[in-house]
Amino acid sequence: DQVRVTRALLSVSDKAGLVEFARALDASGIALVSTGGTHRELQAAGLPVTEVADLTGYPEMMDGRVKTLHPAVHGGLLAVRDNPEHQAALAAHGIGAIDLLVVNLYPFEATIARGASYDDCVENIDVGGPAMIRAAAKNHADVAVVVDVADYGAILSELEAQAGSLCVGTRRALAAKAFARTAAYDAAIANWMAGQGTPEAVSAPPFRAIGGQLAQTLRYGENPHQAAAFYRAPGVVRPGIASARQLQGKELSYNNLNDTDAAYECVAEFDPARSAAVVIVKHANPCGVAEGATLLDAYERALACDPVSAFGGIVALNRTLDAEAAAKIVEIFTEVIIAPDATPEAIALVAAKKNLRLLLAGSLPDPRASGETVKTLSGGFLVQGRDAAVIDDMPLTVVTKRAPTEQEYADLRFAYRIAKHVKSNAIVYARCGATVGIGAGQMSRVDSSRIAAWKAAEGAARIGAAESLAKGAVVASDAFFPFADGLLAAAEAGATAVIQPGGSMRDAEVIAAADAAGLAMVFTGHRHFRH
Ligand code: 5GP
Repeated sequence: DQVRVTRALLSVSDKAGLVEFARALDASGIALVSTGGTHRELQAAGLPVTEVADLTGYPEMMDGRVKTLHPAVHGGLLAVRDNPEHQAALAAHGIGAIDLLVVNLYPFEATIARGASYDDCVENIDVGGPAMIRAAAKNHADVAVVVDVADYGAILSELEAQAGSLCVGTRRALAAKAFARTAAYDAAIANWMAGQGTPEAVSAPPFRAIGGQLAQTLRYGENPHQAAAFYRAPGVVRPGIASARQLQGKELSYNNLNDTDAAYECVAEFDPARSAAVVIVKHANPCGVAEGATLLDAYERALACDPVSAFGGIVALNRTLDAEAAAKIVEIFTEVIIAPDATPEAIALVAAKKNLRLLLAGSLPDPRASGETVKTLSGGFLVQGRDAAVIDDMPLTVVTKRAPTEQEYADLRFAYRIAKHVKSNAIVYARCGATVGIGAGQMSRVDSSRIAAWKAAEGAARIGAAESLAKGAVVASDAFFPFADGLLAAAEAGATAVIQPGGSMRDAEVIAAADAAGLAMVFTGHRHFRH
């Protein structure tokens, strides 16, 4: 899995570090080939280097638009070393193999950034560079491709350490980086061109290319005056909303897609082998979640948490939708149902509601899977690894005098699983595998605590219970209580056990308040902010 580097092609616009890099390559016996400007630079430094024009038999032409677009270059990059036919073709046409490609592209991004003329920008669209990069990256089994000046040092170290060879892992990592570079380069070109004003000429999606794959142009965004579209992350295969099959119902809206994603990601936290689980979402927040022996049981308990909010909600299930659950769900106005699968009877029952969207995702997403989330800012975006932390993997530390009972432990884990999917500040009251009050998205934790407790009291009033449903429940907080007040609100509402990350400056105060109220409290060490 080692590739011995004997010939390198260098063609770079950014000539930083070029001479030093090429000198080291030359010193280790690697033959150098390069394009016009790069060639001049290397020759001036006294390095032996062949010009690409001598390889192709053609001069660079048309202002450099055609330099390397030739079989003598692309054959040398693409030929598979252990394929006799490819080797015969190289020999027949006198093409030499290239095992290291060093390219950085025409500075298109810098050209548009300095406000250059339209023609100048167009001239700075590199054609031959990306073609070579993609050829070398495709053939990474035999070729290494370097697109970033910052990698020169590491490449030299590896060549030195491995007697002039590069290993397969390095070549693969370089290839991934190379494709990311050409993708970003083309996205920059597409974004710039889309912003150059071609009104109504093309029936284009309302967004500029962001490197996504257009899945659906939406009627509108969060509000009717906002244009919108749904893009899939290209090359990402993950069960969930982006790959789900819609069996029936109206076209999904922007808000439906957003809410359904939230619901399905949340329900995926519940292992279907352990229990049936149902999540009902409104405005991207769960308004009722429950586990049960059956989906029907789980749905009824999830609905009971907050039936007012559940009206017009999204229902996500972790098991194959069955007839019993389907019959119950269609009784109230629901926007979307999403499940891994559905029985024919369930599908027939949902069919009676023409507008109700039914999505089958095939399987559940893995909550521990790596991946990224993206959020836009004006003029940019934030990317982070997805929150793949799962409560089952967190060692829980009991910080109070009293440890939770078995039932409390089960409910604490259940509540924390959900708190991860509730917008911060998140407070979740739960009892016997069902939420009884959820406080979401408040700017102060104590307000979220109050709202959750109030929901639990409302729940009691609805069923004519004498005491709030928070009485005897457990409570989860997505982040630490900065003061004892949020915890005291929970104790006052009747909660008996608390789960939270811990780590506040005032932890001691909060723990003392919990002990004074006879609460059991555990720390997870993992925060679940969701803003
Ligand atoms: P040099 O300064 O060596 O003359 O040119 C280097 C630049 O040319 C690199 O940025 C490389 O990506 C680009 N390049 C190489 N081959 C071609 C080609 O065939 N067409 C175009 N337009 N650019 C090329």
